[in-house]
Amino acid sequence: MRILVTGGAGFLGSHLCDRLLRDGHEVVCLDNLFTGRKTNIAHLLTHPSFEFVRHDVIDPFKFEVEQIYNLACPASPPHYQFNPIKTTKTSVMGAINCLGLAKRVKARVFQASTSEVYGDPAVHPQPESYWGNVNPIGRRSCYDEGKRCAETLFFDYYRENKVDIRVVRIFNTYGPRMHPNDGRVVSNFIMQALRGEDLTIYGDGMQTRSFCYVDDLIEGFIRLMHQTETVGPINLGNPGEFTMQQLAELTIKLIGGKSRIVRKPLPADDPKQRQPDITLAKKYLKWEPTVPLEEGLKRTITYFRTQV
Ligand code: NAD
Ligand code: UDP
Repeated sequence: MRILVTGGAGFLGSHLCDRLLRDGHEVVCLDNLFTGRKTNIAHLLTHPSFEFVRHDVIDPFKFEVEQIYNLACPASPPHYQFNPIKTTKTSVMGAINCLGLAKRVKARVFQASTSEVYGDPAVHPQPESYWGNVNPIGRRSCYDEGKRCAETLFFDYYRENKVDIRVVRIFNTYGPRMHPNDGRVVSNFIMQALRGEDLTIYGDGMQTRSFCYVDDLIEGFIRLMHQTETVGPINLGNPGEFTMQQLAELTIKLIGGKSRIVRKPLPADDPKQRQPDITLAKKYLKWEPTVPLEEGLKRTITYFRTQV
């Protein structure tokens, strides 16, 4: 197949391009390089089935493709809050442009949604049936509400225009090719420990997240796209739940050195807990994560050693 990946030069997008090429497809990678990097796809530029197009998803585009994966959107809080209006435009207009294209060329279209649609969840763990607890006017809203609106558009194109959609809600995912300065917790802690700096915990460190290794996630993407039993939304994430204190301690244990833990103020609207209910992914995709946090962190640390 010929497949379009928006956001293909980013962390997840570049791993997805690798996988699709390995599976024998042709890949068009569209990215404006806002948070993505050419180095993530440098090894693909000479591949005969790979094409990079520098373009912004808020501007219309046309490609003759059979599948579209829409991943274009900054994902780390400092990046998506850098230009919040642009973040909402990217989610909403990017979704409209992908859906319009999918409708014209009759392509199956995938949306990378997020556990952020659950906001600061009052239900724990979060099943797909939970509608969430999102502040519509806070610092995270540009991302959360942009992604929620994108889901709305996907389901309206599905109901109104019979567009063949797939929607996945991704929980915190980490691994090689995360941007070393993107401000997310895993990359921050690893880079701080590798540089011998103190690890910055925001707030009391008792907030939780569930961390999925990138290879597991990409396998879930492919399985969702290859089946016809569900269009989603479907949670993909690792149900293992850790406090930020535990993550900091584990990072220091794996890297060693003199780093200590220091506290910084908790950002506004920071969710207190997050853990995916993956019952649907198990049922429809026969999917569950295979890489435990400690193993995934070791692989990620090996990558980040090349980035210090
Ligand atoms: P990333 O920042 O590494 O990748 C995003 C990519 O999109 C980058 O290459 C960036 O340059 C590109 N991009 C941003 N705005 C664009 C625009 N207007 N036009 C074209 N390209 C644009 O982040 P990631 O972690 O790889 O996230 C990929 C997708 O997965 C995002 O949609 C994100 O919301 C979603 N997601 C990721 C996680 C996670 O934990 N990694 C969790 C939930 C959802
Ligand atoms: N966090 C932290 N120290 C850091 C970066 C993040 O304690 O250096 C916390 C952050 O406040 C949040 C959690 O780690 O509670 C996950 O943050 P991240 O930005 O990675 O993802 P998200 O909040 O979007 O889940």
